[in-house]
Amino acid sequence: MKHDDCTGCGLPVLELEGQFELVQPYELQHDELPLDQAGCWHTACLLRSRFGPAWAAVRLRTYRDLRKYDTLAELDAWTVLHHTQGDRIALGRTGELLRLASLGSRRRARKVLAGRVFACVDEGYNLELEDGSVIVGIREGFAAAGSYPLLGVCEALGILNKVHHPVALERGIVSAVRQTESRHFITMRLEYGVFVPDELLPYTGGVPT
Ligand SMILES: [Zn+2]
Repeated sequence: MKHDDCTGCGLPVLELEGQFELVQPYELQHDELPLDQAGCWHTACLLRSRFGPAWAAVRLRTYRDLRKYDTLAELDAWTVLHHTQGDRIALGRTGELLRLASLGSRRRARKVLAGRVFACVDEGYNLELEDGSVIVGIREGFAAAGSYPLLGVCEALGILNKVHHPVALERGIVSAVRQTESRHFITMRLEYGVFVPDELLPYTGGVPT
Protein backbone atom coordinates (compact mmCIF):
# COMPACT_ATOMS: atom_id res chain seq x y z
CA MET A 1 0.00 0.00 0.00
CA LYS A 2 1.36 3.38 -0.94
CA HIS A 3 1.64 5.83 1.91
CA ASP A 4 -0.62 8.89 2.16
CA ASP A 5 0.66 12.42 1.93
CA CYS A 6 -0.41 14.93 4.59
CA THR A 7 -3.36 17.09 3.59
CA GLY A 8 -1.75 19.93 5.51
CA CYS A 9 1.86 19.91 4.30
CA GLY A 10 1.96 17.44 1.39
CA LEU A 11 4.78 15.35 2.88
CA PRO A 12 4.61 11.57 3.51
CA VAL A 13 2.70 10.36 6.58
CA LEU A 14 3.86 7.40 8.66
CA GLU A 15 0.74 5.84 10.14
CA LEU A 16 2.06 5.41 13.66
CA GLU A 17 -0.20 5.61 16.73
CA GLY A 18 -0.17 9.14 18.08
CA GLN A 19 1.49 10.55 14.95
CA PHE A 20 -1.25 10.73 12.33
CA GLU A 21 -4.94 11.57 12.04
CA LEU A 22 -7.47 10.35 9.52
CA VAL A 23 -10.96 11.62 8.76
CA GLN A 24 -12.81 10.07 5.85
CA PRO A 25 -14.82 12.42 3.64
CA TYR A 26 -18.03 10.47 4.47
CA GLU A 27 -17.70 11.54 8.10
CA LEU A 28 -18.38 15.15 7.09
CA GLN A 29 -22.09 15.90 7.14
CA HIS A 30 -22.77 19.42 8.26
CA ASP A 31 -20.15 21.54 6.54
CA GLU A 32 -18.04 21.88 9.70
CA LEU A 33 -14.94 21.23 7.64
CA PRO A 34 -14.15 21.85 3.96
CA LEU A 35 -14.15 18.51 2.15
CA ASP A 36 -10.60 19.05 0.89
CA GLN A 37 -9.35 19.22 4.50
CA ALA A 38 -10.39 15.62 5.24
CA GLY A 39 -7.97 12.75 4.67
CA CYS A 40 -4.70 11.99 6.38
CA TRP A 41 -2.67 14.51 8.41
CA HIS A 42 0.43 14.51 10.55
CA THR A 43 -0.90 15.06 14.06
CA ALA A 44 1.64 17.88 14.45
CA CYS A 45 0.33 19.60 11.30
CA LEU A 46 -3.29 19.31 12.41
CA LEU A 47 -2.49 20.88 15.78
CA ARG A 48 -0.76 23.80 14.06
CA SER A 49 -3.56 24.28 11.53
CA ARG A 50 -6.76 26.30 11.91
CA PHE A 51 -8.84 23.18 11.19
CA GLY A 52 -8.21 21.37 14.47
CA PRO A 53 -11.36 22.51 16.32
CA ALA A 54 -13.51 21.62 13.30
CA TRP A 55 -11.91 18.16 13.21
CA ALA A 56 -12.70 17.78 16.90
CA ALA A 57 -16.38 18.57 16.24
CA VAL A 58 -16.58 16.12 13.33
CA ARG A 59 -14.94 13.34 15.29
CA LEU A 60 -17.06 13.91 18.38
CA ARG A 61 -20.19 13.61 16.30
CA THR A 62 -18.92 10.54 14.44
CA TYR A 63 -18.03 8.70 17.62
CA ARG A 64 -21.14 9.69 19.58
CA ASP A 65 -23.86 9.49 16.92
CA LEU A 66 -22.55 7.02 14.37
CA ARG A 67 -20.39 4.70 16.46
CA LYS A 68 -22.46 4.97 19.67
CA TYR A 69 -19.70 5.94 22.10
CA ASP A 70 -20.61 7.68 25.38
CA THR A 71 -18.76 10.48 27.11
CA LEU A 72 -16.77 9.19 30.07
CA ALA A 73 -15.04 12.43 31.08
CA GLU A 74 -14.61 16.03 29.97
CA LEU A 75 -11.06 17.17 30.76
CA ASP A 76 -9.30 20.46 30.04
CA ALA A 77 -7.90 19.47 26.68
CA TRP A 78 -9.66 16.16 25.98
CA THR A 79 -13.00 14.39 25.87
CA VAL A 80 -12.75 10.74 26.89
CA LEU A 81 -15.27 8.46 25.17
CA HIS A 82 -16.02 4.80 25.70
CA HIS A 83 -18.03 2.08 24.04
CA THR A 84 -20.01 -0.59 25.88
CA GLN A 85 -17.91 -3.26 24.15
CA GLY A 86 -14.81 -1.93 25.87
CA ASP A 87 -13.11 0.51 23.51
CA ARG A 88 -11.99 3.82 24.94
CA ILE A 89 -10.56 6.83 23.11
CA ALA A 90 -9.65 10.43 23.85
CA LEU A 91 -10.44 13.27 21.45
CA GLY A 92 -8.39 16.42 21.80
CA ARG A 93 -9.94 19.88 21.48
CA THR A 94 -7.63 20.38 18.50
CA GLY A 95 -8.82 17.29 16.65
CA GLU A 96 -6.31 14.61 17.60
CA LEU A 97 -7.34 11.09 18.66
CA LEU A 98 -5.64 8.73 21.10
CA ARG A 99 -6.69 5.08 21.44
CA LEU A 100 -6.54 4.38 25.15
CA ALA A 101 -7.96 0.85 25.49
CA SER A 102 -5.29 -0.80 23.36
CA LEU A 103 -2.31 0.67 25.22
CA GLY A 104 -0.30 -1.68 27.40
CA SER A 105 0.34 -1.57 31.12
CA ARG A 106 0.50 1.89 32.67
CA ARG A 107 3.07 0.69 35.20
CA ARG A 108 5.42 -0.47 32.46
CA ALA A 109 5.04 2.76 30.47
CA ARG A 110 8.14 4.99 30.56
CA LYS A 111 7.73 8.09 32.70
CA VAL A 112 8.62 11.29 30.86
CA LEU A 113 7.94 15.00 31.35
CA ALA A 114 4.15 15.58 31.67
CA GLY A 115 3.14 12.03 30.79
CA ARG A 116 4.18 8.49 29.96
CA VAL A 117 5.33 6.71 26.81
CA PHE A 118 3.60 3.38 26.17
CA ALA A 119 5.43 0.74 24.14
CA CYS A 120 3.83 -0.12 20.82
CA VAL A 121 4.73 -2.68 18.12
CA ASP A 122 3.66 -2.82 14.49
CA GLU A 123 4.55 -6.30 13.23
CA GLY A 124 4.30 -5.49 9.54
CA TYR A 125 4.44 -1.88 8.46
CA ASN A 126 4.42 -1.52 4.68
CA LEU A 127 6.17 1.46 3.14
CA GLU A 128 6.09 2.11 -0.58
CA LEU A 129 8.07 4.96 -2.10
CA GLU A 130 8.95 6.06 -5.61
CA ASP A 131 12.32 7.36 -4.41
CA GLY A 132 14.30 4.14 -3.93
CA SER A 133 17.13 5.75 -1.93
CA VAL A 134 15.15 5.84 1.31
CA ILE A 135 14.33 2.13 1.31
CA VAL A 136 17.84 1.14 0.19
CA GLY A 137 19.19 3.27 3.05
CA ILE A 138 16.96 1.49 5.57
CA ARG A 139 17.97 -1.94 4.24
CA GLU A 140 21.68 -1.10 4.33
CA GLY A 141 21.49 0.47 7.77
CA PHE A 142 19.53 -2.47 9.12
CA ALA A 143 21.96 -5.00 7.61
CA ALA A 144 24.92 -3.21 9.20
CA ALA A 145 23.51 -2.71 12.70
CA GLY A 146 20.67 -5.21 13.13
CA SER A 147 18.19 -2.38 13.66
CA TYR A 148 17.53 1.08 12.29
CA PRO A 149 16.37 4.19 14.14
CA LEU A 150 12.79 5.20 13.41
CA LEU A 151 13.76 8.87 13.54
CA GLY A 152 16.24 8.04 10.77
CA VAL A 153 13.30 6.90 8.65
CA CYS A 154 11.50 10.16 9.48
CA GLU A 155 14.60 12.16 8.55
CA ALA A 156 14.98 10.35 5.23
CA LEU A 157 11.34 11.11 4.45
CA GLY A 158 11.84 14.79 5.33
CA ILE A 159 9.33 14.67 8.17
CA LEU A 160 11.54 14.90 11.24
CA ASN A 161 9.92 18.21 12.20
CA LYS A 162 6.46 16.62 11.83
CA VAL A 163 7.04 14.22 14.73
CA HIS A 164 4.53 14.87 17.52
CA HIS A 165 6.04 14.40 21.00
CA PRO A 166 9.52 13.35 19.77
CA VAL A 167 10.04 11.63 23.13
CA ALA A 168 7.61 8.95 21.87
CA LEU A 169 9.79 8.04 18.89
CA GLU A 170 13.30 8.81 20.15
CA ARG A 171 13.89 5.15 21.05
CA GLY A 172 11.83 3.82 18.16
CA ILE A 173 13.47 1.29 15.86
CA VAL A 174 12.97 -0.81 12.80
CA SER A 175 13.59 -4.17 14.51
CA ALA A 176 13.12 -6.47 11.50
CA VAL A 177 12.72 -6.17 7.75
CA ARG A 178 11.26 -8.68 5.35
CA GLN A 179 13.85 -9.71 2.77
CA THR A 180 12.99 -8.78 -0.79
CA GLU A 181 14.94 -7.13 -3.54
CA SER A 182 12.54 -4.22 -4.00
CA ARG A 183 13.98 -0.70 -3.86
CA HIS A 184 10.50 0.77 -3.65
CA PHE A 185 8.72 -1.39 -1.12
CA ILE A 186 9.64 -2.60 2.35
CA THR A 187 7.81 -4.39 5.16
CA MET A 188 9.21 -3.50 8.58
CA ARG A 189 8.62 -4.50 12.19
CA LEU A 190 8.46 -1.23 14.12
CA GLU A 191 8.90 -0.73 17.85
CA TYR A 192 8.06 2.74 19.10
CA GLY A 193 6.14 4.64 21.75
CA VAL A 194 2.87 6.50 22.20
CA PHE A 195 2.91 9.57 24.43
CA VAL A 196 -0.05 9.90 26.81
CA PRO A 197 -0.34 13.10 28.87
CA ASP A 198 -0.76 12.86 32.63
CA GLU A 199 -4.43 13.86 32.58
CA LEU A 200 -5.31 10.85 30.40
CA LEU A 201 -3.36 8.23 32.36
CA PRO A 202 -6.30 7.27 34.61
CA TYR A 203 -8.24 6.29 31.49
CA THR A 204 -5.65 3.97 29.92
CA GLY A 205 -5.92 0.20 30.10
CA GLY A 206 -8.75 -2.29 29.79
CA VAL A 207 -12.48 -2.11 30.28
CA PRO A 208 -13.59 -0.13 33.36
CA THR A 209 -15.18 -2.18 36.11
ZN1 LIG B 1 1.91 17.39 7.54
